[in-house]
Amino acid sequence: MSPEEEEALLSEEDALSARPVQIVVAHEDDHAFELDEAALERILLQEHVRNLNVVVVSVAGAFRKGKSFLLDFMLRFMYNQTSCSWLGGHEEPLTGFTWRGGCERETTGILAWSEVFVVDKPDGSKVAVLLIDTQGAFDSQSTIKDCATLFALSTMTSSVQLFTEYGRLALEEIYEKPFQTLMFLIRDWSYPYEHSYGLEGGKSFLEKRLQVKQNQHEELQNVRKHIHSCFSNIGCFLLPHPGLKVATNPNFDGRLTDIDDDFKTELVNLVPILLSPENLVEKEIGGSKVTCRDLVQYFKAYMKIYQG
Ligand code: GDP
Ligand code: MG
Repeated sequence: MSPEEEEALLSEEDALSARPVQIVVAHEDDHAFELDEAALERILLQEHVRNLNVVVVSVAGAFRKGKSFLLDFMLRFMYNQTSCSWLGGHEEPLTGFTWRGGCERETTGILAWSEVFVVDKPDGSKVAVLLIDTQGAFDSQSTIKDCATLFALSTMTSSVQLFTEYGRLALEEIYEKPFQTLMFLIRDWSYPYEHSYGLEGGKSFLEKRLQVKQNQHEELQNVRKHIHSCFSNIGCFLLPHPGLKVATNPNFDGRLTDIDDDFKTELVNLVPILLSPENLVEKEIGGSKVTCRDLVQYFKAYMKIYQG
């Protein structure tokens, strides 16, 4: 088979079975990171996307913070853009970045959705949208440095990064790297009477949390001062608790009937803020837009830096 034929066959396979593909693997034993270059290239060098400017939306956070759950809804939106009922059927189980209950450990690293979505922006341009799941582990099995490296890597390569956290905002876990949009996603928010659910409440909450106070530890003061100079756009979204079935029922399969209405209402607000064509943020490095092909090179270069 010629390389061209092989490539055609592979992209055909990918189209038939879109799935999460691990592109960066974190090896715990020797604290090394490994980029699966072939896997990355199979995704980003597909003929119909390689020369398009790329939008990289990455959901980052520790293990079991609901990243896959959220990404699965983002996938539903991407696959049903034109439908107002993109959220899905009431009894339809969620699929995609397979999420699961239980507290067993999953692999740390970076996963990408194998299908790159081509979207027409209102200005007539076409962009390629890559969805990424970055899982760090804030537990005894991995060091803080591993985790920092992983998040830095996904930060450097994404245009929009969501950082998921339950009911709090841990600024200590954010590292100083310049990129476009950072959105904190605070889940299980239980003080809507203080700051309302959604983007507005998130904004007022974030402003309060980003205030620099005299009596704060110097390091915390610095994170707060620095964060604005690193990101051109910082947002925060407050999501309500999804309900007890989601949080505790081992048989929960993601179907909408088992999810609280408040949560669904806010989800319908959140996902288009991130993914509707007019809101897509193209990845820029040094002020220039980056194509899928360029992104492969950046990934390789950044891996070298972090390995060095
Ligand atoms: P990931 O490890 O970050 O990808 O987390 P998962 O998406 O696999 O979700 C882990 C568990 O958290 C699952 O049992 C989900 O049902 C549950 N979950 C998802 N979203 C939320 C949320 O907003 N709040 C709570 N309390 N649980 C959630
Ligand atoms: Mg997951």
